[in-house]
Amino acid sequence: MNFHVLTLFPDMIMQGLNTSILGRSMEAGRITLEAVNIRDYTINKHKKVDDYPYGGGAGMLMQAQPVYDAYLAVEDSIPKKSSGKTRVIYLTPQGKTFDQGMAKEFAKEEDLIFLCGHYEGIDERVLEEIVTDFVSIGDYVLTGGELPAMVMIDAIARMVPGVLGNQDSGENESFSNNLLEYPQYSRPEVWQGKKVPEVLLSGDHKKIEEWRLEQSLERTRQLRPELYEKWAGENQEYFVRKEKREERRRKKLLKQLKKQTAVNPNGGVGEGSASEEDT
Ligand code: SAM
Repeated sequence: MNFHVLTLFPDMIMQGLNTSILGRSMEAGRITLEAVNIRDYTINKHKKVDDYPYGGGAGMLMQAQPVYDAYLAVEDSIPKKSSGKTRVIYLTPQGKTFDQGMAKEFAKEEDLIFLCGHYEGIDERVLEEIVTDFVSIGDYVLTGGELPAMVMIDAIARMVPGVLGNQDSGENESFSNNLLEYPQYSRPEVWQGKKVPEVLLSGDHKKIEEWRLEQSLERTRQLRPELYEKWAGENQEYFVRKEKREERRRKKLLKQLKKQTAVNPNGGVGEGSASEEDT
């Protein structure tokens, strides 16, 4: 996958993304990143790229011409596909809020162009001309679109096959199924008196999976109730299955208790009673 960033601060992009997992993926050729300096495309002899907004108001605006010419240069360099124009994402606090679903969707593209604004933003006319997606990273205002572009590229690149060592680690993470991730533990088994939950040491993969889903659900219910409601609405069958499972366990327990009482009519529940997992 190829990321193309139109910016006034190309070093910020290259230095910010060229390390760790993304850096290695670039070396391996799984993703490519180019940061194009919009200033290189201005026709102003003083290399100016901004001017005062018509009608007055605070600050300066990036002008249409250098942005458009930088965009044309990048678009022309991208091999033409049957799907037509490359998607151009303008980072703006006025856009749709970025989330994991969008990261997954953008990761299907072969090329993406990111347009980073600065100062008070960019002349509306060039936005109308080239932008296909208006995306925000949250309800606050930053000085430029470079950090938002880096946030998006990081999240999208992780969805590209082969970028993460173990593809599963992208599939099971928070938001991948509208749930927050379950708690995770690594060695040692006991740290500062806190023990790793027993089930994770059991080697019983079915039980571990069940426990993780329950933890995810509980965590999401507490921290992000709106996500929990969404998941619950779309996964009614999970609750039906859970209820049936619990009913089976209750019946099994009752049967064991009856058997126990028959063998030992005067005593309480002794050895051979239901195990903890059956409760
Ligand atoms: N005057 C603009 C407004 O009120 O909508 C804000 C301009 S902001 C100071 C400069 C640039 O930073 C924007 O053009 C945009 O590219 C970027 N930016 C700032 N906050 C952002 C956010 N929350 N998400 C995405 N991009 C943002």
